[in-house]
Amino acid sequence: MSGFDKIFNTYDWNIAKRSIYSKTNADVESALQKSSKSLEDFAALLSPAAAPYLEVMAQKSHALTQKRFGKTIQLFIPMYLSNECQNICTYCGFSLDNNIPRITLSKAQIKKEIAVIKGLGYDHILLVTGEANKTVGVDYLKKALELIRPHFSSISIEMQPLGEKDYRTLKPLGVNSVFVYQETYNRTSYKSYHPKGKKANFEYRLGTPDKIGRAGMYKIGLGCLLGLEDWRTDSFFTALHLNYLEKTYWQTKFSISFPRIRPAENATSTQFPLLDRDLIQLICAYRLFNQDVELSLSTRESRSFRDHAIKLGITAISAGSKTNPGGYSNGSASLKQFEISDERPPKEVAKMVVSQGYEPIWKDWDPILEQNA
Ligand code: SF4
Repeated sequence: MSGFDKIFNTYDWNIAKRSIYSKTNADVESALQKSSKSLEDFAALLSPAAAPYLEVMAQKSHALTQKRFGKTIQLFIPMYLSNECQNICTYCGFSLDNNIPRITLSKAQIKKEIAVIKGLGYDHILLVTGEANKTVGVDYLKKALELIRPHFSSISIEMQPLGEKDYRTLKPLGVNSVFVYQETYNRTSYKSYHPKGKKANFEYRLGTPDKIGRAGMYKIGLGCLLGLEDWRTDSFFTALHLNYLEKTYWQTKFSISFPRIRPAENATSTQFPLLDRDLIQLICAYRLFNQDVELSLSTRESRSFRDHAIKLGITAISAGSKTNPGGYSNGSASLKQFEISDERPPKEVAKMVVSQGYEPIWKDWDPILEQNA
């Protein structure tokens, strides 16, 4: 043990959960008063006891976000390169046991996707693949990057966890951010949601952000799939992970995403629903806990929820997303990973952002920024 696992293994899920659910009004009020908040304060802000304080949390979160990030919202878009996957994940449309046509984009198809995405105005792209090492491993990604890099100043990836050496290789090829979500920090539940494939290895996934940090990536994205387990306890462990990584890789930026489980082909439904009000509480709790972390919301969320949430702590949103490979240039010919909720085109989302007094940022990073950092 040499990374986050060393800290994680000193915690017990049930004890952490009991602690969160036993927080009192006094704990919440004490947390709200402090300028610098501990993990225990975060637990109080997440707890059921904090629900009556949502309005004051929202006001503070709004003010802190504007102070740190200004009145800006970053826009990004995912490009799905492949729906091939060797894992069984019981909540995902791309799961190996799901009998769907598998597609990995060819060079010609990638070029078509680039043309459509550039036409939408984007300069920041998130590349997404399933986890199929043989067909969409590092070699495939390298070839894809040759085509993609000239058109985008910022490239993020969300794919199978890789080794530190691979991340080091990808950095000079244009990848500046890596998103790897633990899905759930509950080891027992994790095993039941991920019964087969490399992803079944909880520890390997848990150790991946350390590898990304050691490789010197500009940004690491964390999160869990909200709805797989108790969202409060999972978020406590995500914050524990964030805290550790920030201290260890202090030159790296961090982002938290809030994927709420969505309907997908043949996927199981959630036993741990997260209400809109809960998600607002969670977003505000993160912002009060950490003023620097980027908070990101995808098109999994509804139009009305997203319009409301951008004023409460969110700093980045996707818009116009397609969650199937080739989805921008070829319509819905292939299967989606999950159903999109907010289907507005990016320009319409940008207009909404402006109407709320914010500036939509299509380009938030340039390699030159890192050289000067
Ligand atoms: S969540 Fe990822 S790893 Fe799991 S089946 Fe879907 S694409 Fe594959």
